Amino acid sequence: MRVEGRLHSERRVSSASSALSILFLGLLSNHLPGLASMGVCQGVMVVQSPERWATRDSMSKLSRAANASILIAAVLAGASPGKAQPAGPAAAAVNPLWTQQKIKNYLPHMTWPEVEDLLKRTDMVIIPVGALEQHGRHGPIGTDYLNGTEKGLLIAQKTDVLVAPILLPGQSPYHMGFPGVITLSSETIERVYVEAAQSLIRHGFKRILFLTAHSGNEATVRFIVDRINQETPGIAVELNQAAQTVREPRATTSPPPQAKPRPFDRHGGVGETSDSLYLTPNLVDLGAARMAHLTVPPQLKSTYERMQQGDRAAELVFLAEALKAKETGKHSSTREMSDMGQWSELDPATATAAAGQTATDRFVADAVAFIDDWKRMRPRVDP
Ligand SMILES: [Zn+2]
Repeated sequence: MRVEGRLHSERRVSSASSALSILFLGLLSNHLPGLASMGVCQGVMVVQSPERWATRDSMSKLSRAANASILIAAVLAGASPGKAQPAGPAAAAVNPLWTQQKIKNYLPHMTWPEVEDLLKRTDMVIIPVGALEQHGRHGPIGTDYLNGTEKGLLIAQKTDVLVAPILLPGQSPYHMGFPGVITLSSETIERVYVEAAQSLIRHGFKRILFLTAHSGNEATVRFIVDRINQETPGIAVELNQAAQTVREPRATTSPPPQAKPRPFDRHGGVGETSDSLYLTPNLVDLGAARMAHLTVPPQLKSTYERMQQGDRAAELVFLAEALKAKETGKHSSTREMSDMGQWSELDPATATAAAGQTATDRFVADAVAFIDDWKRMRPRVDP
């Protein structure tokens, strides 16, 4: 109580003298490392229990002077002892690793009443389907999971729908030659997503947009979508495919695209790295990026060359045989085809956040346009 009374009476001291005291405190702190972190509490102890101050014989005169000054500074600044010392025992406990903001419509961050409220506004949910797999020396293993979730969240900020990530890993057996990759069978993935969708459908999220964020999951997602449509009261679509329907009418007004040579740039290449630089910038180590030396298996060489010339048939058969698990004997797993891990003939170090933003903005705009159109053309699916 004495401390509080004194604080109260001293608060009228001019801000100029407070500033001078704090400056003095700062100067002392520079000379006595660690003092600032302990001084105020000890200073307060002086007021409450002078005899304790007196028993600290080992404390140098300078330290005592500093502590007294710290006390004065704290008092003149009008701070309560607890507020003046954030590192003290009374400070709020904050996990130093927690940096996330609460994100709107992101299921893991929501309370059940917030979900209940959202259900009054929408019956739609985006489920990203990602992977935990290597992305070269520069990209995080969570790239597909993280980018898919971030894209879903960007969409959900523009059109009011839920985003519910279910699994981090996906189907990535052909990346297993690199450390850290986790792969699940298509049967497991299918079962988990169908059961998760059934839970969401039961709560009222009857329209489900699966966002395939890893091409290795494409066929599995197609099957999951069909199972939900065939077996449950829910209605599912694949969101990349849905967004494409928004882009296609524009394409038909322009001349048909000519097949032209395109650089081979898929997994972990410039396109995907650019997305990551925009979506999860601090997780990309661009300085570690190295161009991959690609080894195309002999039986795929001519197909690869035709694909490089823009031949769509060659692309289809190349993708059917390439990027398959080592155990298949096709010699086309990532480790067998790429020393760095990416599947691209471009230098990933040339990726830019600006390019990632352009691609992301276009996809988000198309996805939002599709979702809004679906909301208009079909009323919500009620029980
Ligand atoms: Zn990826």
